[in-house]
Amino acid sequence: MSNCIFCKIINGEIPCAKVFENEHVLAFLDISQVTKGHTLVIPKVHKENVYELTPEIAKNLFEVMPQITNAIKKQFNPIGLNLLNNNGEQAGQSVFHYHMHIIPRYGTGDGFG
Ligand code: 5GP
Ligand code: ZN
Repeated sequence: MSNCIFCKIINGEIPCAKVFENEHVLAFLDISQVTKGHTLVIPKVHKENVYELTPEIAKNLFEVMPQITNAIKKQFNPIGLNLLNNNGEQAGQSVFHYHMHIIPRYGTGDGFG
């Protein structure tokens, strides 16, 4: 989708700090880190939200989730990790290209929750 910021990141029109990439999935650091290592995982096809995902796209995303979370765990050494996906404006979604937040946790006062 031409006016989607995440599609622009996929196309290389907007730079990002890549964490992981394969044929179907891109993971990159969130521009506004709620905690150190805050990462977004997106499908390379434009789907607005979880309702629009096909089983194939969902499979592609979750197939690489252990690899991505283990890489984050290794690099940032958090004591916990939240996976969070907002669907709809009322749920806090601000970019309407499906994305899973990976939020590393460092204990009380880490700035999230
Ligand atoms: P949402 O609120 O839709 O669940 O999350 C959207 C996320 O995208 C936010 O955490 C926001 O900081 C992040 N974001 C928005 N624009 C950009 C951008 O241009 N680059 C990166 N890396 N993250 C972005
Ligand atoms: Zn998009």
